[in-house]
Order: sequence, then C-alpha cells, then structure tokens
Amino acid sequence: MNYCQRCCYPANAKPTIAFDDQGVCSGCRLHDARKQIDWKERETWFREIMEKYKAEGKKRGNIYDCVIAVSGGKDSFYQAWLAKQYGMNPLLVTFNHTFNTKVGIYNLQTMVKSLNLDLLRFTPNEESVRKISRHMVKTVGDCDWHSHAGIMTFPIRVAVQYNTPLIIWGEHGFADQTGMFNQNDMVEFTKKTRREHSMRGFEPEDLVGHEGLAEKDLGPYHYPSDEEIERVGLRGIYISNYFFWNGKAQAEFLIKNFNFRTAAQKDRTYNIYDKIDGFHQCGTHDYLKYLKFGYGRATDDASMDIRHGRMTREEGIEMVQKYDHVRPTDLDVYLKWVGLSEAELMGVVDTMRDQKIWQKDAAHKWQITDSIGNHINDPGAQTAKLPLDGDRGGYTANLPPYYWERDDQYIIL
Ligand SMILES: [Zn+2]
Repeated sequence: MNYCQRCCYPANAKPTIAFDDQGVCSGCRLHDARKQIDWKERETWFREIMEKYKAEGKKRGNIYDCVIAVSGGKDSFYQAWLAKQYGMNPLLVTFNHTFNTKVGIYNLQTMVKSLNLDLLRFTPNEESVRKISRHMVKTVGDCDWHSHAGIMTFPIRVAVQYNTPLIIWGEHGFADQTGMFNQNDMVEFTKKTRREHSMRGFEPEDLVGHEGLAEKDLGPYHYPSDEEIERVGLRGIYISNYFFWNGKAQAEFLIKNFNFRTAAQKDRTYNIYDKIDGFHQCGTHDYLKYLKFGYGRATDDASMDIRHGRMTREEGIEMVQKYDHVRPTDLDVYLKWVGLSEAELMGVVDTMRDQKIWQKDAAHKWQITDSIGNHINDPGAQTAKLPLDGDRGGYTANLPPYYWERDDQYIIL
C-alpha cells in the first residue's frame, strides 16, 4: 500500500485520494493551498452573503435568516456563534441520531442557552432507527446511515418549510480530509453529494421492505422536490470556504468562552474534542471503517494535526498504531441494541473487506497486510516534512486543557 509521505493516509482512503510525484496526498496539498488563500477577502464575501440573506429574509417576512444544522459538537456550536457575529438570526435544527452522549446533550443545551437561539429538534422513533441501522450495517457496513441521511435531509426540509433560502454548513469534511475539491471551487451543498457520499448511494425508498421497514419509517429521510427547492431558492454554503478552518482553535475558543465540554477519553483516537456528541462516531462506526479499509479515526485526526504543524509524522504514526485497531467498548452497546451477535456482524463485514489491505492467513483469519508503521522511513518522508508551528496541545502528551471527568456515558434519545 502507498501512504502519503507527509500525513498518514493510505492510497485506499475514502472517498478518493491522489498522490503527486512527491508522494504527498491531495488532502495535504489542499491544506497547503488553504494557507495561500486571502482569507480577509473571503471574509468579505461571507459578509456580503450574510447581508444579502438578511435582506432577503426581511423581504419575505421571515423570522429566521438562515438554517444551521447543529449537534452537540464543536463545529456547529462555532458556526452558530459565527453567524450571530454577522447579525444573523439562525434557526438551529437538530436531527437527533438517538446515539447521544451526555456530553453532547450538555453542549447542545449550553449552545442554545448561551447563544440565545431557537432550536428545532427532530427525534425519529427508535424502532425505525434500529431497523434502518440493522439493514444498512448488513448492506454497506454503516451503523448510522440514518444519522447521515437525517442530517442531510431534515435541515433542508425545515428550510423549505420556513421559506428560508440559506443553509450554513461547517467544513466540507470530504474535501478537507482527502482533498476531493479544489479550494477555489467554492463548492456548495448538492443533492448529488448528499446521495453519493452521505447516503452511500441509497435513497430512503431503497430501504422499504427490508427488516420490516415500511414507507412511514423512511418518511423523515425524503428530500424535498426540485420544485420546492427552486421555489425557496435554496442554497447551502460551507463556512470553511470563507474562514481558515482550525478545529482545535475553535474547540479552545468554545471551552474558554462557553464552557464547552470534551469527552474524557475515547477508545479509538486521542482527539477528545471532535466527534463527541454521538457514541457511534468514533466507536463502532469508525471500527467498521477500519475493518473494511484498514484505517480509522486516529489516521484522520493525526493527518489533520500533522498538516496543521501540531504533530510530527512520527508522532502521528505512533497514535495510529496505538488506536486504529482497537475494538471499541461501545460495540457491545451497539450489538445489543441492534440485535446482532459479533460473529454475525463480522460475517457481514467479511464481504466488505478491501483485499488490497486485508488477506486471510493459513488459519483463515484476516490479517492486515501493511500499515503506516512500515512507512516511517519512506524515501519521500524527509522532503515532505512540514515545520512544527509550536501549538502542541490536544494530544496525550499535553492533555490538561482538554480533560473532563468521564461523563460521556451513552444515552438513547
Ligand atoms: Zn497527506
């Protein structure tokens, strides 16, 4: 397997990754390009957009200027805060994925209270979520399809219902991790990205009839019609196109100003301020990614920290080796809830293993055939190195500003 000479991503990273002639990946090159951008200019573009939609809201007699999808995470908290700085009155919208952590609920409540904004929260019934999860984990190895589909559908339905034409999203996750888009594309939310990446090519009607799923179970995941979208003039922008996105700095800002809480620890990565509102995100969901493609959340987190100059590649690799293979404790919670045995789940995953990285040994056990640990001294690694920027917080060697007592136990609903 080829690995990026600068970060930790393998050549089979999802959704798509490319390496240049120096062996540096498209995600790292995108990050380089982001450093060259005139962010002051971009900020003026953002301001213009906010002014335009404030005026539009007034013209339509709306209470809200835009819709922002929020969870209990740092990204959406920061987005909501930022929109307020531009005089916006956003309607906050939550699709409750029902796999909540206490710390996530605490942060959601804190956000609504401290920013003094309205929140509309939709909770799908648990039985439908269970059936969807059981079907999709068996079909594509995704335990929380309902969460991605819900987040990519409910805010849009609300925007249509409230005749509010602007939705503000956070960072374009795919673009930022593996460099799917060019920074100058100014990519916006599309129905196509929603379907192909967030929903893995499945529309809700494709699930009907499986695991006893009826039309009514899939109701919340239906996207508005083209006519409705056009009538409202809907547009979804990503804040990361207008501001230099630095998740760690944003988390620190929220901790300092709003008492934002992090998780105390996580099973599958050292980063405790990101993806903390749902126990699926870094546990089972991420473990399934590892079993399919041979890399997990620690690879994502370390790669990002390396690009920001917060870690050396060697330190990043150490984190990947420590965490990427770990079986998460919430797997037991998930299996009990969804009604599958571990053997059943592993049987399903077997058919999805990427054989570029997984091979069966003589005893018919899956073995990983390569890892970033074998590529520490690759020929391009020295040349691709970035200087450290002195901001070394956020990983185990510098834990204190991030530590909270363990209160991130799971709750359903
Ligand atoms: Zn890279």
